[in-house]
Amino acid sequence: MNKEELKLNKYEKLGLKIGLEIHQQLDSSKLFCECPSKLVDEYDYEIVRGLRPTQSELGDVDRAAVEEAQKKLRFKYQVTENNCLVETDEEPPHEPNKNAVNAVLMFSKMVNAKIVDEIYFMRKIVIDGSNTSGFQRTALIAVDGKIDDVKIQTVCLEEDAARKISEENGFVVYRLDRLGIPLIEIATAPDIKTPEQAKEVAEKIGTMLRATKKVKRGIGTIRQDLNVSIKDGARVEIKGVQDLKSIPDVVEKEISRQLRLIEIKNKLNERKAKISHEIFDITMIFEKTECKIIKTMLEKNGKVLGIKLNGLSGLLGDGENRFGKELAGRVKAAGLKGLFHSDELPNFPASKTHKSMQLVNWEVCPNYGITENEVEEIRKNMKLDVNDAFVIVVEKDNIARNGLNIILSRAEECIKGVPEEVRRALPDNTTEYMRPMPGAARMYPETDIPPVRVKKEEIDKIKLPELFDEKIKRFVEAYKISFESAKQLVAQGYDEMFEGFVKKYEPKIVSRVFLNIIPEIEKEEKDVSRIDEKMLDEVFNALKNGRFAKEGLTAVLCSMLTSNIGVEEAIKNTGLGGLSEKEVESVIEKILEEKKEFVKEKGKNAFAPLMGLVMKKLRGKADGKIISSILKRKIKEMVSE
Ligand SMILES: [Zn+2]
Repeated sequence: MNKEELKLNKYEKLGLKIGLEIHQQLDSSKLFCECPSKLVDEYDYEIVRGLRPTQSELGDVDRAAVEEAQKKLRFKYQVTENNCLVETDEEPPHEPNKNAVNAVLMFSKMVNAKIVDEIYFMRKIVIDGSNTSGFQRTALIAVDGKIDDVKIQTVCLEEDAARKISEENGFVVYRLDRLGIPLIEIATAPDIKTPEQAKEVAEKIGTMLRATKKVKRGIGTIRQDLNVSIKDGARVEIKGVQDLKSIPDVVEKEISRQLRLIEIKNKLNERKAKISHEIFDITMIFEKTECKIIKTMLEKNGKVLGIKLNGLSGLLGDGENRFGKELAGRVKAAGLKGLFHSDELPNFPASKTHKSMQLVNWEVCPNYGITENEVEEIRKNMKLDVNDAFVIVVEKDNIARNGLNIILSRAEECIKGVPEEVRRALPDNTTEYMRPMPGAARMYPETDIPPVRVKKEEIDKIKLPELFDEKIKRFVEAYKISFESAKQLVAQGYDEMFEGFVKKYEPKIVSRVFLNIIPEIEKEEKDVSRIDEKMLDEVFNALKNGRFAKEGLTAVLCSMLTSNIGVEEAIKNTGLGGLSEKEVESVIEKILEEKKEFVKEKGKNAFAPLMGLVMKKLRGKADGKIISSILKRKIKEMVSE
């Protein structure tokens, strides 16, 4: 068995199943109005809204919805120049944008998915305020596609949510510029079998999307979520994986997290642990405490409340995937700043402090300043057995009780094993708890948008784009550029402009401008986004007409950009006006006259050192090839004299 097979075998034994969900912004105006799909730095005014009713028209209250509603937040919306009454929910949505619909149809066709006859938009409840209407509109476009041997379950068209800016004084602040940008949502079946394959499939979907030329480019325009499960574990959705490269590591870390939870479950069953729901008020134990966090909170009328976690002693604070961290994640989602648990306090035999679970400024005091005696008192007060752990929090009574109840229900889940939930990917590729898995009650029909018929002729008319691999191959053959250059041009999205220019100009030079010269100019912190097709055409044209030499490309382009001038003026400003062959000849003759002895002595070998000297004088003013041929000829003449 080779290494790859061994690996596959390992994941097969684990029963690893991965599904991908990819959201990509489409390059058109908004989905339900004509506003531009562009983010902006400023806003015109703010509007304030409260929470919408949390009950869907089907009568079921969604678990995730209830949890969000419990946070009782109000929302501020920043209205920008790229918004109209549709985004503020004061006007019904317009007809869905045709270009956006076509982009999704094209992708669906590329993956051989079955396209629906009629597009119906549905309302998906969102309670976090990220949509002014209280729901996100989404439509199923196609099902049952395939990429290699991974099934594409669904391809949907939906609207992007508002952009979260901050949370302040009980308000969540959103900017409406992003709201309504069309998104394609692609969900695969959980057919992916290894962490590496998950990355490959995501990459492939990404390049296919870019090949359509109908998607937005750049950071934040594509987002990938993962579904990960293992045998005896559960389906966990991981949102917001930063980049493709980190996918395998995120999956590996989720596997070990689930394995750890399974281990805890087995241990608890072995210890026959049951969760008791009693909450203990142990404030009196801390009347004279030296622990600063507790002291400060008690002065603010806080209380110290605790719970007993039967059978969990030693399981909270061990190893990479500390269960204590999971608990802390849950109370953080409920608005508590943190918790103390027995595995990190003195008196526990294997006591170690685990710094990563405290949240605000708690790392300054070792063991937080809680003493052995205090721990002893807690254990006595709660009547703890040797296998029992405890968690205490210090807060206002109701907040503390709410937090502890959340921990108790999480502890209860761990007797069953891994809970299904939605988690958020963090920069170090670990994850934190976000919310429970949303239930099925989240969707109901959108009555403001009439269904859109998809005619068979329309689908037949869609021409599939050339895939990147094919295009790269064609570039190498047709334009005689290197494979690497062709790959870069395509990957960076210059392929279309490149093909336009090479009809008139030399491919190697065009490719060099895109791949070397523009990045060089960008390194000097110039705003290269202002370089457009017209500007490049001017430059290429002047170069072709011998107005300057190709060595001067960077300087000329740079000058046009910084001084905001045309190419002729830039040539003048940079002093790079091209010299005629005659002028070049006279410069070379002058140098050769000075170096006469050297040439006589070295003969033909004088060329290389003299070329350096000549180039110093002529760089950018004449073409290198012409200079070298003149120099060669002149040396030959001198030597044969
Ligand atoms: Zn609008």
